[in-house]
Amino acid sequence: MNTDDQSFYYFASHALLDEGWAKDVLFEVNNGYLQTIEPNSKPPVNAVHVDGPMLPTMANVHSHAFQRIMAGVAEVSLNSIDSFWSWRDLMYKIVRKLSPDDVQVIATQLYIDMLKAGYTQVGEFHYLHHAQQGKPYDQPEEMAIRLMEAANVSGIGLTLLPVLYSHSGFGGQEPTAGQLRFIHSTESYLDLQQACEKALVDQPSHQLGICFHSLRAVTKPQINTVLQSLDQKKVVHIHIAEQQKEVQDCLNWSGQRPIEWLHNNVGLNDRWCLVHATHINHQEIRNMANSHVVAGLCLTTEANLGDGIFPAVEFEKANGRWGVGSDSHVSLSIVDELRTLEYGQRLRDQQRNRLHRPNQPSVGDNLFAQALQGGNQACDVSLGLKVGNRANFMILDASNPFMAASQPADVLNRWLFACNENMIKDVFVAGKQVIKAFQHDQDDSSRLAFTRVIKKVMYDE
Ligand SMILES: [Zn+2]
Repeated sequence: MNTDDQSFYYFASHALLDEGWAKDVLFEVNNGYLQTIEPNSKPPVNAVHVDGPMLPTMANVHSHAFQRIMAGVAEVSLNSIDSFWSWRDLMYKIVRKLSPDDVQVIATQLYIDMLKAGYTQVGEFHYLHHAQQGKPYDQPEEMAIRLMEAANVSGIGLTLLPVLYSHSGFGGQEPTAGQLRFIHSTESYLDLQQACEKALVDQPSHQLGICFHSLRAVTKPQINTVLQSLDQKKVVHIHIAEQQKEVQDCLNWSGQRPIEWLHNNVGLNDRWCLVHATHINHQEIRNMANSHVVAGLCLTTEANLGDGIFPAVEFEKANGRWGVGSDSHVSLSIVDELRTLEYGQRLRDQQRNRLHRPNQPSVGDNLFAQALQGGNQACDVSLGLKVGNRANFMILDASNPFMAASQPADVLNRWLFACNENMIKDVFVAGKQVIKAFQHDQDDSSRLAFTRVIKKVMYDE
C-alpha cells in the first residue's frame, strides 16, 4: 500500500464499522484499500459525501451461475411428488444445451444482479466443466475462464471453486448420462486446479478454493488425494445433508450420517464450508460448531426445493458459524436470505426473535454480522469496514423514509424486516463505484444478451 497523493476520501454520516455503528466517518481509500477510518470527523473539501447509511458488502457463499436461467420455470406441478430430484432432472436437460458463450452471458447478468443485491464476492461452485457428452474443451479451464470474464465485466470478486464430481452415488457409482459434462477423475481435477491457479494469477479480488460436489460424487481416497495435493490453506466446499434421502443413502452405505462420516473419516476445520447441512442431529451440530466450519445456508433455494429447515437456533446457541448463498438464484437478495432464515425458525417454533446472541439482542444486527463473518471465512476474503480491508461498501437509499429517519440501531432491522423494494442504492468495490443509483454501466447490453440466451436455450427461439 502506498500513502502518496492517490488517496481519496468518502464521508458517511452513519457507517457500520467492524466495531459497530459510528457517526461522521471519514474513509481514506488508497489503491483500493481502506487506509484510515476516522469517526467523528469533519470532512475535507475533496471528500465524497455518501447519501445514506453505509454498510459493508457481503460474500455470497454458494452460486451455480448457469442455474439462474431456469429460475422460475420449475414451479409447475408435473406429478404429485415434485421434489429436489425432479427439479434436478429439469436442470440436467437445460445443462445439455449450454455453450461457454451462454454461460458467460448468464453469469455476467447474474453477477451484476448480485452487486445490486450487496454481494461483492461470490463463491462459484463450478461443476459445468465439459462440452456435450462430456468431451473436454481444448483448454479444460474454458468454463472457469468464462466465469472469470463475467466477474471482471461486472466488477464482482470471484472465489472460484472448481468441483470434483466423479460418481452418481455413494460408494463410487458410475455417473449417469445427465452428469457427463461435470465429470473429472482425480488426476484431471488436479490438472484443472493448476490451470485455474495460472488463470487467476495477479487478480487480487479473485480466490481459488477446493470443492467436492457431495459425498455421493467422490470417494474417500479422492478426498484425501486432493486435500494432500493442494495448498493446505485453501477453503474447501461440499454440498452435504441437503436432503433426507441423501442422509438415508449415506446411512445405508456407511452406517453414518453424512456430516458424521466426514467428521470421522476426513476431519473438519475452519477451511470447510458445508453447504446446506439441513438435516443434522445434535452431535453433528456440536461437531460443526467446535471445528469452526461454516454452514453455507441457501435459504431461498432450500425453501424453493422443499429441502427442510436448518436448525439455526440450536446452531447459534452452539456458536456455530454460517454464511448465506443464493445457490440456484431463485432470489438475489440478502434481505430474502436473512428474513427467510429467521422466519423459518419462527414458524417452526411459534415464537418471535429467534436468532440473537447474548451480546446482540437485535435480530437484524446479529443476522447481518454472522452472515458477513461466515461469508468472509467461506470465500477466503475480508469484507467489512476495517483498516486494511478492500474498500467495498454499499449505501442504503436515504430517500426511503425508514432509512432517512431511522437511528443507526434500527437501520438493519428496518431494512431486513420492513422494506420490500431494493434499498441498496450504491455499491463500491475497491473504492470504485460499480452500482450507481441502482444502475450498472453494463445493464443495457447485458440484459439484451441475457434475453437472447433465455429465448434460445429455454424456448428454442
Ligand atoms: Zn448447490
